[in-house]
Amino acid sequence: MRTQVGIIGAGPAGLILAQLLHLQGIDSVILERKSKDKIEGTVKAGILEQTTIDILREIGVGDRMDREGHFHNGNYFQFNGQRRHIDLKKYSGGKQVVVYPQHEVIIDLVNARYNNGKDIIFDVENVTLHDIDTENPKIRYCKNGMDEELVCDFIAGCDGYHGPSRQAIPESIRKEHLHMYKDGWLGILSDSAPAADELIYANHDQGFALLSTRTPILQRHYLQVDPHDDIANWSDDRIWTELTERTKTNDGWQVPDGPINSKGIIQMRSFICETMQYGRLFIAGDAAHTVPPTGAKGLNLAATDVKVMAKGITEYYRSGESDVLDRYSEICLRRVWKAERFSHFMTHLLHANSSYDSFQRGIQLTELDYYTSSEAGLRMIAENYVGLPIEWEKAENLKILK
Ligand SMILES: Cc1cc2nc3c(=O)[nH]c(=O)nc-3n(C[C@H](O)[C@H](O)[C@H](O)COP(=O)(O)OP(=O)(O)OC[C@H]3O[C@@H](n4cnc5c(N)ncnc54)[C@H](O)[C@@H]3O)c2cc1C
Repeated sequence: MRTQVGIIGAGPAGLILAQLLHLQGIDSVILERKSKDKIEGTVKAGILEQTTIDILREIGVGDRMDREGHFHNGNYFQFNGQRRHIDLKKYSGGKQVVVYPQHEVIIDLVNARYNNGKDIIFDVENVTLHDIDTENPKIRYCKNGMDEELVCDFIAGCDGYHGPSRQAIPESIRKEHLHMYKDGWLGILSDSAPAADELIYANHDQGFALLSTRTPILQRHYLQVDPHDDIANWSDDRIWTELTERTKTNDGWQVPDGPINSKGIIQMRSFICETMQYGRLFIAGDAAHTVPPTGAKGLNLAATDVKVMAKGITEYYRSGESDVLDRYSEICLRRVWKAERFSHFMTHLLHANSSYDSFQRGIQLTELDYYTSSEAGLRMIAENYVGLPIEWEKAENLKILK
């Protein structure tokens, strides 16, 4: 089998890329390890920033998001039992975010793929990459017990943190930056009323809490916990007691509770792979970088990476120019580092740290006061939260970027 772009992974990165390429008349084949039901049913991200909203509209898959998504103009930061509103729209020049779950985005993208008359090859096994430093890179895989080979012009590694694509870049030219946090997040889905009209990020002595939402009757909330804790230690009663304590306000407000229908604990890490390209292989999304969820950036970075990749590939087929493709890693990493910085900043600003002395705790609370009251602080949070623009120009003096 032969295609122009072989895409490994049908997550947000792979599916958005396929649609961007299709609209430019470029053929692709998508290989996915899981089943269609599995990718359409896994609950992950929920917040799409303005840049992602714009990309989904541009590629013709924004209709249901526009109809059913909940557009937010701001969010709340809470500390010392008081809530401060961050007017994202005002401080970012009119931009917004939307609460529209990742699995709904996946459903819309899979439908778009089928409407284009194209397929996705699900349930593939043993995916390996070959000849990526030649003009005919290949992907070998197994489907229904048969060994197959896909010859491509380019390979897009959109296979998440644990996929094989990143590992195909020789170790000698791959620099990986990994930072592990000592905290994890316990996430729940509950049948309960929304806590507020917008998200609430709460800093509390007992730990961070995030009150988020999915629909008017289904809520997504998180608690800072020990990442090695066993979820069996967290009864529904204990979760609600902790959420109530960490998010109640001085005027007596308490989070509405209800039956919890799913719960789990995730570890937080920041990870960046430099470079994001080698030969004819380009990696995107979680395959290249991961962020702690505090800044809500993972899916959004995946979308902008593939926007850059699609522009580079399109330019190559249209005019033979490879300027954007050659600088793919540089263009993406400039924005990735900024999103990593913001996610790291939000994590430290909002999470309790048991090793802090009273001075450090005082500094943390003062930072919260500063960022939620100064115009400069509000602008910094707003412009990062709604998504920074892609910077296409050369970044000559940025030694940090390879
Ligand atoms: C609890 C939680 C909350 C989050 N909240 C947010 C949020 O609010 N906003 C946000 O922007 N991000 C959020 N994220 C992060 C976001 O979900 C990810 O960053 C996003 O899924 C990355 O997309 P991706 O396409 O790069 O990778 P993935 O979604 O991981 O997709 C990769 C795909 O590749 C497939 N694959 C893997 N290996 C192979 C193989 N060998 N062969 C073939 N296919 C393979 C996988 O099955 C998968 O379908 C959250 C994540 C979690 C866990």
